[in-house]
Formats: sequence, structure tokens, C-alpha cells
Amino acid sequence: MDNKLKVGIVGAGIQGISNALFLQKKGYEVTIFDRDNPGSPAASYGNAGHFSPYASLSLNRTDVLTDVPAMLLSSTGPLALKWNYIPKMIPWFVKFILNTSKNKMMHTAKNMHQILDLALPAYDELFDEIDLDGLVENKGILYIWNDKDLKSRELEINVRNELGVHQQLVNKKEIHDLEPNLKPFYHAGVYYPYARHARNPKKILLKFFELFLKKGGKFEKLDIKNIEFKEQQPILKSERDQFMFDKVVIACGAFSRKLTDKLNEKIPLDTERGYHVHFKNCDHLLQRPVIFSNRGFGITPMEQGLRVVGTVEFGGLKNPLSKPRIKNLINNARYMLGDLPDHEDEWLGFRPTLPDFLPVMGPSKNHKNVFYCFGHHHLGWTLGPISGKIISGMIAKENTNLNLDPYSSLRFS
Ligand SMILES: Cc1cc2nc3c(=O)[nH]c(=O)nc-3n(C[C@H](O)[C@H](O)[C@H](O)COP(=O)(O)OP(=O)(O)OC[C@H]3O[C@@H](n4cnc5c(N)ncnc54)[C@H](O)[C@@H]3O)c2cc1C
Repeated sequence: MDNKLKVGIVGAGIQGISNALFLQKKGYEVTIFDRDNPGSPAASYGNAGHFSPYASLSLNRTDVLTDVPAMLLSSTGPLALKWNYIPKMIPWFVKFILNTSKNKMMHTAKNMHQILDLALPAYDELFDEIDLDGLVENKGILYIWNDKDLKSRELEINVRNELGVHQQLVNKKEIHDLEPNLKPFYHAGVYYPYARHARNPKKILLKFFELFLKKGGKFEKLDIKNIEFKEQQPILKSERDQFMFDKVVIACGAFSRKLTDKLNEKIPLDTERGYHVHFKNCDHLLQRPVIFSNRGFGITPMEQGLRVVGTVEFGGLKNPLSKPRIKNLINNARYMLGDLPDHEDEWLGFRPTLPDFLPVMGPSKNHKNVFYCFGHHHLGWTLGPISGKIISGMIAKENTNLNLDPYSSLRFS
């Protein structure tokens, strides 16, 4: 292996920075490009902070189509649409529907499980090199529901059992013992004791970024507009500058398609928009993240206070924030916890999502020196380091006993 290879990474979210750190471990010279400073309000900043290695069942599931109409009609439900974006999204929806058969659901679940199972050890390899300073809590993650017969809970529990995911079903009393401040509206739940949560994803990201700089990494605050090639060597181009590398990694989250389209690869990446608000100084009310499954939202105790996170809104990258979705989060939080002070920090973020709910990781179809690492939808925070480790291994041409074919962009050709 030529350790002196120069690698350019576009995107300084958790995927880009994790790729950079694992490439540095192998001796590569790495430059990260981002149009914003690291820690700016991208998905890696505003997520719910769950490290959730159990979450192998994704939204492409057999029951989703029967549940969607009710979810869309419910004002407290988790789904929303920006009607002006629907025509643009129809091809994505068609592909998504084709991915909700039992076989496709299990294909996604197995291949998510393969990488989720390795996610925490990969994080620990990076955590070993920074001072975590209380930024990660090991108190598990709790899901609760208030409908005894909610059939989708059975599906989740059965699929996870089939994959060997450890889960602990909990009754009302056990939920109360874990989280005494929750109003007792719930019937039952499931607890993942080994899951973790971030007290401040931005601070963790910045600690990783400082480590990257300390190890000699370079950062260019530039919007990358295009990738061109001299023979096979990729050149990253901003409005005014250009930089040549031996290898390039595209890790722009939901914005990656702008560059993959330019490489003539039609990857059907779109976004599931999500929201958060904070209730300052209330984080003492919960010990750990609690997700109210029926309403598809959750609350995480963080340094900023309680972070209330949720909604899957289909509406593209350009539509403005929807005030009703913010209101919905606030009402849901009060339903769970009673009185809360006024909220702060209304945030809209973009989950990068492919219609089969598997990420794209691997070389570009048309250019062997360009690698992709995006599309981790609801799990990109959990999957940052393991994805970086996988891509760095591909670039170094290392052998692996993982089956990486399911993540290739070739599945869309
Ligand atoms: C509401 C919400 C809650 C979530 N909760 C969780 C959770 O609890 N656990 C979990 O595992 N995951 C969660 N996720 C998902 C997770 O946050 C994302 O999958 C992950 O952060 C994506 O990381 P990324 O690095 O791919 O993209 P981003 O974090 O979006 O970073 C992409 C970066 O690329 C830059 N960029 C884009 N285009 C260009 C360009 N052309 N030139 C230069 N720079 C560019 C952007 O500025 C940005 O900094 C959540 C997401 C949302 C929206």
C-alpha cells in the first residue's frame, strides 16, 4: 500500500470526519472540504444523539404502506409532506414501495445489522483518542408505546429477535422505575441497555475534528461544485480553486447527489427532513433517550436541555421549516412530561435516504478513484466511524470478511 496517497474528502459531517480519521490511521494525507465550518447545523449537529446498534429494521417494512395514510392524517403523527415536492419525489416513492416486500425488508435489515453490530467498537477506536469529558452516556435507550396491540411493535421485535439483537421488553412498572418523570400514559416498551447517547453531538464532532487537525489534516472551507479528472486522478473544483488528489470521498450527506449526478451516476438519494427543539435546563427530567413509538418522536437529555427530535417530512432540501411540525414536537413533549418552559432553537435537518434504506458505500461506478459514503438515513450518527473504517479499508485495498456488495451504488444501475 502507498501510504503517501493524498485523499480529499467532501463533507465535514460525522461521515466525512470519521473517514478522515480512519484514513489518517492508515497513514494517508487527508484534506477535508466543507462549505461551512465543522459543527455547523448539518444533520450531524442536530440529530437525537442516539448510538443505536439495535436499529436494524428500517422504514422499508411490510406494514408501512397500510400505516401511512393514518399517519399522514394524524396531526400528532410522525409523517408529513410538502405538497409542492411530491411530483419530484414520485420516482423515489415508487422505488421505496418496491422495497417494502418481506424479502427486501429482510435484505435491508440484515445488511444494516451487519454494520450496526460493529458501530460501537468503531466509535470506541476513535473515543480512545479524545477526552470524552462526559459527552457520552451509557444508560441505554427506551422505546415506549400506548397501544397494547400496536402490531408494528411485534414486527420490530420479531425481526430483531431473528437477527439476534439483544432487547429487553419492559412493563409499566419497569418503565416507571427507569423514567419516573414520564406521565403514565404508556402500556409497555422495549429497552436497549447497551445503547448510548451523546450529550452534545456537535462537541463530539468538534473533538474529532481537532484530533484530525492535530494529526496533520487540512481543512478548506469551500463549496465543491464539480469533480473533474486528469487521466484518472480526481480534481475537486470550487468556484475559484481546484485541488488534485489520488482518491476522493464524497460524504456530503443529503447533498451528495449534486456531485454524483455530475459524475453521471443516477443515484436516487433524497431526504427525510427532521426537526428538533430544546427545552433548556430540563435535562434532569430524563436519564436517557425516550422514544414515543406511536408518535415517532423522541426526547434526549443533552447539555442544551431536553432535545425533542422527530418527524419524517418529505419535502426536499429547499422548502422552509414547517412551523406546524415544531408545534407538534412541543405538544408531544408536553404530553409525555407535562409542564415545560418555552422552547428554544427550532432546527430543521436533512436525513440522507435511499429508497432501500441502505447507505451507499464504495467506489463510484464510473471512476475508480472516487468513493461514496452517504445515505445513512436515521442512523448516520451511529454509523459514522464504522463507515469511515470500511471506506478506509477499501481505499487501502484491504481484505474484509464483510459482504460490502449490498452498499454499492451499482445496485441502482
Ligand atoms: C432529526 C434527525 C435526528 C436524527 N437522529 C439520529 C440519531 O439519533 N442517531 C443516528 O445514528 N442518526 C440520527 N440521524 C441521522 C444522522 O444525523 C445523519 O444520517 C448523519 O448525521 C449524516 O451525516 P453525514 O456526515 O453524511 O451528513 P451531514 O451531517 O449532513 O454532513 C454533510 C456535510 O457536507 C457538507 N456539504 C454538502 N455539500 C457540499 C459541497 N458541495 N461542498 C462542500 N461541502 C458540502 C455540508 O455542509 C455538511 O457539513 C438524525 C437525523 C435527523 C435529521
